[in-house]
Amino acid sequence: MKGTCDFVGINYYSRLRVGFEPRSPKTLFVEISVPPHKPQGDSGIEVPYGEVYPEGLRQAATRAPVRPGAAVLEIIQDKGRQKTWLQQGGFPVVNPTESLTEMQRHLRGEHERFGCLGGHKYFYLDWNLNLYRCHFWEKPMCNIYEFDQSKLIRDGCTRCMIDCYRDPSVLQFVAISVSDAWNNLKKGKLLSAAKSVFDSRNLTSLKAVWEDRKWIGKV
Ligand code: SF4
Repeated sequence: MKGTCDFVGINYYSRLRVGFEPRSPKTLFVEISVPPHKPQGDSGIEVPYGEVYPEGLRQAATRAPVRPGAAVLEIIQDKGRQKTWLQQGGFPVVNPTESLTEMQRHLRGEHERFGCLGGHKYFYLDWNLNLYRCHFWEKPMCNIYEFDQSKLIRDGCTRCMIDCYRDPSVLQFVAISVSDAWNNLKKGKLLSAAKSVFDSRNLTSLKAVWEDRKWIGKV
């Protein structure tokens, strides 16, 4: 309906501090910093993305004319984030529930069930055509012109929680298992093939695919 708005999305990252630096005329005496003792998000390739600062999201979310219900405020304030809170508040959440649970495991330092497929199925290509396993990684795998199967990395990395890579790693797990089983069968490695087929994570992955079917269908 004209003049109305159903959803407002806030893509909130982090906080950078701006200070006066008299020894830096090149930056017009401005210094941007992230205090090392504060909790930080992804380290980034050159500099950290910034300080984890939930208060900033609260301020953005409550600033007029955006006035969300209690759901979005709960996710900021409560460490036990639950997808259902947002959904109940009318906010669509595309991340599979299992990925959100993985995030919680990651933050608690617990064992994560789904290793990342960054460097195996997903990549990051920079403007110099250097290929990285993801945009979190410091060193490239190779230049795109040197890429071949031998450059692929599959080590079950759980170094970060960038959902661009971690969500599809959960969703695609079952397909990778099928592929592994098939390849092992062709090599006569029956035990390894059976291990891939009967991996309990396949069911969790299928559940995630089913949960996200509405969004996957639109890709
Ligand atoms: S877990 Fe993070 S750092 Fe590791 S490959 Fe995936 S995106 Fe890259």
